[in-house]
Amino acid sequence: MRILVTGGAGFIGSHLCERLVGEGHEVLCLDNFYTGSRLNIAPLLTHPRFELIRHDVIEPILLEVERIYHLACPASPVHYQANPIKTIKTGVLGTLNMLGLAKRVRARLLLASTSEVYGDPLVHPQHEEYWGHVNPIGVRSCYDESKRLAETLTMDYHRQNGVDTRIIRIFNTYGPRMSEHDGRVVSNLIVQALQGEALSVYGNGEQTRSFCYVSDLVEGMVGLMESDYTHPVNLGNPGEYTINELADLVRKLINPGLPIVYRPLPSDDPRQRRPDISLARRLLGWQPQVELREGLLLTAEDFAKRLGRGVRPSLI
Ligand code: NAD
Ligand code: UDP
Ligand code: UDP
Repeated sequence: MRILVTGGAGFIGSHLCERLVGEGHEVLCLDNFYTGSRLNIAPLLTHPRFELIRHDVIEPILLEVERIYHLACPASPVHYQANPIKTIKTGVLGTLNMLGLAKRVRARLLLASTSEVYGDPLVHPQHEEYWGHVNPIGVRSCYDESKRLAETLTMDYHRQNGVDTRIIRIFNTYGPRMSEHDGRVVSNLIVQALQGEALSVYGNGEQTRSFCYVSDLVEGMVGLMESDYTHPVNLGNPGEYTINELADLVRKLINPGLPIVYRPLPSDDPRQRRPDISLARRLLGWQPQVELREGLLLTAEDFAKRLGRGVRPSLI
């Protein structure tokens, strides 16, 4: 098939492109390099079935494809809050354009949505029927509300225009090729540990997250794309950790003597997050395979290479 991956030069997108090219598909990777990088797709650039298109999804584009994985959007709080209006344009106008494209060429479109549609959730763990608890005017709203509207647009193109759509709600995902400057907790802690710096924990560190390794996520994305289910599906690892537990694990694995430094909690930071993945299990027979410890080691090895640090024996 000919497959478009928007945001294909980003963290998750680059792993997805690799997987799809590996399966024999022709892949068009569309990216404006806002947070992504050519380095992420360097090994693919010379592949005969891979094509890179430098383009901003906010602008319309004419392409002929059979599948669209729509991932283009900054994903880390630091990045999406740096230019919130741009985030909204990308989330809303970018999704509108990709849905318009899907309608014109009768392609199937999968929207990469997020657990952030649940906001600071009052239901725990979060299942797909929960409508969420989102502040519409806070600093995270540019991301949360545009993803919510992107879901609405997707369902309306499906209902009104018969566009064949899929929606995944991605929970915190980590792995090799995360940007070292994106401010997310996994990248921050690993980079700090490799550089022998104190580990930064925001607030009292008792807020929780669930961390999914990128290969598990990609497996679920491809599985849902090829299924016939059109309502949103959670994809994430149900293992739930406090940020204190995560920081402890990172220092045990990489650099045990490091202190933890506590910093102010950013506003509207969700207190807890864990996916209910019963639907994905039932529909796709999918569940994560990579344990946090193993995934953190693989991620740390990648960061160590990029930062030019020697890889500690415990990492091998
Ligand atoms: P990322 O920042 O590494 O990748 C996003 C990619 O989109 C980058 O390559 C960036 O340059 C590109 N992009 C941004 N705006 C664009 C625009 N206007 N036009 C064209 N390209 C644009 O982030 P990621 O972690 O790979 O996230 C990918 C998708 O998954 C995003 O839609 C994100 O919202 C979603 N998601 C990710 C997570 C996570 O934990 N990583 C969680 C929930 C949802
Ligand atoms: N669009 C696009 N590529 C296409 C088809 C549409 O970028 O191949 C854009 C189009 O410019 C519009 C959006 O997608 O901004 C929605 O398209 P649709 O046809 O649904 O709406 P309309 O163009 O009628 O407003
Ligand atoms: N966090 C932290 N230290 C950091 C970066 C983040 O304690 O160096 C916290 C952050 O406040 C949040 C959690 O870790 O409670 C996850 O943050 P991240 O930015 O990775 O993702 P999100 O908040 O979008 O889930």
